[in-house]
Amino acid sequence: MKNQKPSQLRWLAIAPEQIDLDRQTACFTPAQQHYLRHVLRSHPGDRLIITNGQGQAWLVQLAAVSPSAITAELLDPIPARSELAVAVTLIAALPKGSGFDAVVRQAVELGVACIAPVLSERTLLRPSRQKCDRWQRIAQEAAEQSERLAVPPVLEPVSLSVGLETWQPTAHRYLCVARHSAPSLLSCLEQDRGNAEIVGNLAIAIGPEGGWTDAEVETAIGLGYQPVSLGSRILRAVTAPVASLSLVSAVFDPGTRPKSS
Ligand code: SAH
Repeated sequence: MKNQKPSQLRWLAIAPEQIDLDRQTACFTPAQQHYLRHVLRSHPGDRLIITNGQGQAWLVQLAAVSPSAITAELLDPIPARSELAVAVTLIAALPKGSGFDAVVRQAVELGVACIAPVLSERTLLRPSRQKCDRWQRIAQEAAEQSERLAVPPVLEPVSLSVGLETWQPTAHRYLCVARHSAPSLLSCLEQDRGNAEIVGNLAIAIGPEGGWTDAEVETAIGLGYQPVSLGSRILRAVTAPVASLSLVSAVFDPGTRPKSS
């Protein structure tokens, strides 16, 4: 395992306090040790990449793998990878069942910066504490899998009105509405890209299976949310976040645009 290519190295997100920059070492929680020992079957000398979930990552080499502890030596910092040129907050009304698991996973893969679940009038799910913890774990796994340096937070679910107020200060706010004659999100994002001031952050809100109520749309518009369309078809509540973030990525991912543009 010593000569792994970078693409073969496992990524592991650990807490910043597990990294000792003075000593250039890292330690692992019991759950991470279990994973390293029994899932990856690690040995001293094996390399992997650890990230502190806050934008920094290092190539590390396991120094000691004893039954009681595993430690690693920091070898090299991993150069910053490009995240999207905007920090996107996805405000999503919780879909029923376990649909939000997929929303979290895919949104993180697509580069979301923060996920804010909200309870709207037509939201059926009332999530338990365990569900919220589970979503944060899914976000972490997805960030590791996508080799992101940041693990997006999944916020505590709040009512839509609280969520919209909270995210009001963001530069640009979009409310995805099906069956409305709204401008397309893509054309709005293209305009934003030309406007240097916006680049910073934006919020995109997606409704539940039953859609937003008229009153919710009015409230959001009153708070500066621009209603937008994702196309002529009606997308499921778990598909719309993926569609919207794909558009953001098409416009704001440095890796998807020709260098000259
Ligand atoms: N049941 C509703 C649709 C809800 S779809 C109806 O029949 O009208 C769930 C959410 O996905 C919507 O609230 C909206 O935020 C988003 N969405 C789905 N399709 C969309 C589209 N074509 N344009 C914009 N938003 C869409």
